[in-house]
Amino acid sequence: MRHFTIVGGGQAGLPLAIGLIKAGHKVRLVQNRTAADLTNGKVLSSQCVFGTARAEERKLGLDLWDKEAPAITGMRIAVAAPDGSGNKAFGFVGNLAAPAQSVDQRVKFPRFMEMFAELGGEIEIAEAGIPELERYASDSDLVIVAAGKGAVSQLFARDAERSPYDKPMRALSLVYTKGTRPYDQTCVTATLIPGAGELFMIPALTTSGPCEILFFEAGPGGPLDAFEPSMDAEAQLAKIKALIRQFVSWEYERIADAAPTDANAGLVGRFPPTIRKGVGTLPSGKPVLGLADAVILNDPIVGQGSNNAMKAATIYLDAIVQRGNGAFDPAWMNATFETAFSRVEASTTWSNMILMPPPPHVVDLLARASGRQALADKVAQGFDEPATIVPLFADPALAAAA
Ligand SMILES: Cc1cc2nc3c(=O)[nH]c(=O)nc-3n(C[C@H](O)[C@H](O)[C@H](O)COP(=O)(O)OP(=O)(O)OC[C@H]3O[C@@H](n4cnc5c(N)ncnc54)[C@H](O)[C@@H]3O)c2cc1C
Repeated sequence: MRHFTIVGGGQAGLPLAIGLIKAGHKVRLVQNRTAADLTNGKVLSSQCVFGTARAEERKLGLDLWDKEAPAITGMRIAVAAPDGSGNKAFGFVGNLAAPAQSVDQRVKFPRFMEMFAELGGEIEIAEAGIPELERYASDSDLVIVAAGKGAVSQLFARDAERSPYDKPMRALSLVYTKGTRPYDQTCVTATLIPGAGELFMIPALTTSGPCEILFFEAGPGGPLDAFEPSMDAEAQLAKIKALIRQFVSWEYERIADAAPTDANAGLVGRFPPTIRKGVGTLPSGKPVLGLADAVILNDPIVGQGSNNAMKAATIYLDAIVQRGNGAFDPAWMNATFETAFSRVEASTTWSNMILMPPPPHVVDLLARASGRQALADKVAQGFDEPATIVPLFADPALAAAA
């Protein structure tokens, strides 16, 4: 039995903690919020998890909401007319090979914390900083930092070569809502609004049951960048509805009667997408290993962070189990991080690409998908495994041949 400390109980840290304990190890999970804080706090994400990452959750016994959560069977993609009229230029529905699912992290993380404790895991409620990491590093075989956007992640140096942007590329605004009218097919609806940003509408499961998340990604300084973190959910939703009416008018009637699911249903924020080095060094010289958003933080524009977190956690779990009694030295840590980074690198490339205005071959690719189901399905399936779609977005010749 080896002893692990995981700092941060989110979409990566919790599955890894549960996987390690199931593999027979001693695990301490350090979390800066109690389960009650999470349940009663603000929404954190839109967290749509696609088939591949869901299969990895299932292997660990973490696919717990199959009956309650809406089964998302496709991606409904639309492009608004570039003249700002609010009319639709074109759109299509691509089918997913396996259903995706979005379970509010306020539901998911507390349940995973409970499971971890039931399995005999130790939960320390603390805001871990450098002194705490030093303590964990001196009594654990390996310390993994999975603290997401938490300040402690700055221990890991920014990798400038892998981080093309040094400022936020989108202003994010989402509200969990009740009262929208469902489409016949349950899809994530993604609408590109040329020159302004994107609108995502995601069927999900929240603390009070099924809901739909309305989520704007706004170009900074543009017309959709109209939200303040101080806004309450009602005011935020009123603004979201007004912007949908103006820029995505064909969706307005469907969402006109939406109301926030609860007082904490709204989230406003922005952050620069940042890739960091996978290994951090404490003042004592001891190394710690970064995981998921702590070191691979993408803008949520193509909804990959939760998927990447699960894929990276699976790679770390397998690598740790395979290591047996070997040392968790910096060379092993770096190799493990690089394996995880190459697993999710296509999603980073894709996210960073979509943050820029789409080149003509991408607009043409999407327009052709609106008349060809096989191409529509291929684009949809790209959200599950971005490596299957990135070449078409990157290369005009491949896009033309698709
Ligand atoms: C607006 C928005 C929408 C999104 N939509 C999607 C989507 O549709 N699909 C998708 O796949 N991804 C989406 N994401 C991204 C996704 O939510 C994250 O990528 C994912 O949760 C990352 O998992 P993680 O474990 O790395 O970090 P997190 O899930 O953020 O977990 C980190 C945990 O560490 C804790 N913590 C932080 N600092 C400390 C500390 N010092 N000590 C102890 N604990 C600490 C935090 O409280 C938290 O519980 C979205 C993100 C945002 C912001």
